[in-house]
Formats: sequence, structure tokens, C-alpha cells
Amino acid sequence: MYGKFQEHLKDELTSIKEAGLYKNERNIASPQSAEITLEDGSKALNFCANNYLGLADSPRLIEAAKKAMDDRGFGMSSVRFICGTQDLHKRLEAAISDFFHTEDTILYASCFDANGGLFEPLLTAEDAIISDSLNHASIIDGVRLCKAVRYRYVNADMSDLERCLKEASAQRFRIICTDGVFSMDGNVAPMDKICDLADKYEALVMVDESHSAGVVGKTGHGVAEQFNCYCRIDVFTGTLGKAFGGTVGGFTTGRKEIIEMLRQRSRPYLFSNSLPPMIVAAGLEMFKMLKESNELHDRQQENVTYFRDKMIAAGFDIKPTQSAIVAVMLYDAPLSQKFAAKMAEEGIFVTGFYYPVVPKGQARIRVQLSAAHNKEHLDKAIAAFVKVGRELGVLK
Ligand SMILES: *Cc1c(COP(=O)(O)O)cnc(C)c1O
Repeated sequence: MYGKFQEHLKDELTSIKEAGLYKNERNIASPQSAEITLEDGSKALNFCANNYLGLADSPRLIEAAKKAMDDRGFGMSSVRFICGTQDLHKRLEAAISDFFHTEDTILYASCFDANGGLFEPLLTAEDAIISDSLNHASIIDGVRLCKAVRYRYVNADMSDLERCLKEASAQRFRIICTDGVFSMDGNVAPMDKICDLADKYEALVMVDESHSAGVVGKTGHGVAEQFNCYCRIDVFTGTLGKAFGGTVGGFTTGRKEIIEMLRQRSRPYLFSNSLPPMIVAAGLEMFKMLKESNELHDRQQENVTYFRDKMIAAGFDIKPTQSAIVAVMLYDAPLSQKFAAKMAEEGIFVTGFYYPVVPKGQARIRVQLSAAHNKEHLDKAIAAFVKVGRELGVLK
């Protein structure tokens, strides 16, 4: 039977390639960092990792992980509720609750799982989920798994959100769901206004802090800090895979009873292995580091400001960013691909995005700034942007 199916797959793969949508992977042969070495020995500066605080190769986190492996072994061989919970897991959950000023936290293997397992245990066909149009794929999938009635509002558009809330007024419960930072533009969800509307129309509020925690807010505590709405957000999800160390692991944190119900009914939690001790111990060490000093967050923010200002001064069209993400607008899809390829030739890794990842005619290069970058790295990247920008006629 496979022959026919194989033909089908080959045709599909060819059409993906012809549409220019085929994803190739870069084989890195060094730790993830600002400067990376590739399989062929060449070096590059990395401006497309989610390594916002530069912790992906942190000696302190590596040491904590090694020690936990010696003390607590390699893996748990169990889900949490059977025999997969160590004191470490409970301590990490407490550290996350402390960071977000929440009542309780539940760990998952990833934030994809946290979002996938969030809605179905809490809501039924009587309820409504009101989702931002640019929410992450994992929120979209989580919503799909739930029978609640779905509403979608235009990205960060509060009058459109209000329209949805009015339409959903007949449902038993309503929840507004948003990413904290939208990863294509780098804009932050207006949480204060979202919470105001939630109050007005009696809705719960959920935010995914994957791109915002560690970055946004005066001390990097995320959107609740930025908009001073800690106790107005009912539930947060997030990842250990971005600012928080770059490893794997996700979490949901928020109101006590919500978390308690997830422990009883959330399928990715009940039917998937618990996080290994080394990951959990490194996570604990990471929250300890963030408590001791705000240096990484501050450096990350300085780098964004420095890079953005120099790029604007050089004549580039930059989306107003409020995060670690800087979108360099090129508008034209083939140009964005050519630009990213030429940047790679200059030893700078950035990503070109175009339709359908971003709207038609909105192609861009996305740059992600990290605390791991130093001035020299930033200056090299800016110089490469200017050189390639001139070559391709983007700059005069
Ligand atoms: C990256 C990301 C996720 C997925 O996180 P993982 O822990 O890697 O599964 C979920 N939501 C948002 C908004 C993200 O940016």
C-alpha cells in the first residue's frame, strides 16, 4: 500500500518546495549562544533564538542540572500522579507561583502541552473562548480540543474584543485568551484594557507569557508587571524554553482551583511523563538567579534599544517593538528571503518571514535580541544589515 501514499507525500513535499515554504534546518555543533559554530566549522552570530536572557549555555544552570542528575537520577519513568513527582517538582511549581504572584502552578512537558491541556478540562459547550487572531498555534489547538463556542478578535483590537464579548454574553462562562507578546511584530497585548473589558463583560483572562516572561515589565516579570494587573489575570501559561533557560518544559499558573482541576483532568499532564529532575533543578536555579539580580533583563533591554535606534538611524523601517523582537520591515516576500540568505553569508543568522506566517505584503526580517549579545555582536549585525540593505536597494 505504501507506494501510492509515498507518491502522494512526494507530490505534497514538492509543492511545499515550489511554494518556497520548505523548512531547512541549520545543524549547530556548539552550545546555543550568541556565537555558534555550525557542523562545517563555520561560525555565525545568532539573532534568531528565543534565548532572551542568554541562559541556554549558562554554567550555573549546567552545574545545577549535573548535580541533580547525580542526586536524583536521569528520569522519572512515570507521570506525575502515579510516581513521577519529586520534592523538586513541587519546589519549581512554588518558584513559578512566586514569580508570577499566583496561587499555584502545574508543570507540563512543554508550553504546547500546557495550552493543549488548558481549555478542555475547564470549559464545556455552554461556555465561550475569545481568542486573539494572532495567538500561538498551541492555543489554537487547545481551543480546538474544547467544545466551548469560539470567538476570534483582530489582534490586540479592543473594540473587536468588545464585539466578541457582547456576542458571547449568553454563554455561561467566557475566557479571553491572548499571547503576552506576539512573536511576529513584538507588540505586547494591552492587558490593562483586556482586564477592563473582562470586568465589564464578566470574563476570565488567560495570557501565554512564552515570549513576554523574563523580558517584558520593569523587572522582566511579564505583562502583569508591565500593566500592573497581577491579580486581574486568572491564568498564565509559559515555557522554560525561551527566556527561562532555553530547555524544555511548560507551566500553567494562576488561581488555585483552576490548577487543582488541571491536575485532575488535564490530559497532557495525566498521560505524559514528568519533567526530568535535571531540568527541574536547573529551572529552580534559574528562578533563584532572576531573584538575585536583574542584570540579564536590563542588558537584554539595553540591547534592544541600542539595536533598534541604530537600525532606525541607518534608515530601516522598524516596527515599534515592546519586547526582545525587532521586526525589520521589507514588505516583499522574495526580498525577505534573499535578505536573510545574504545575512547568513555575512555570518548573521536572522529569519525572513512572509505570507502566510505574516499578512500578505508584510514580509520582514525578524531579529531577536538577547542578553548574551555584546556591543560588538550588535555592531556586526547592524553593519551587515546596512551592507546587505544597500546591495539589495533597501537603503539608498
Ligand atoms: C514558544 C511558544 C509556545 C511553545 O512553548 P514550548 O514550551 O516550546 O512548547 C507556546 N506559546 C507561545 C506563545 C510560544 O511562543
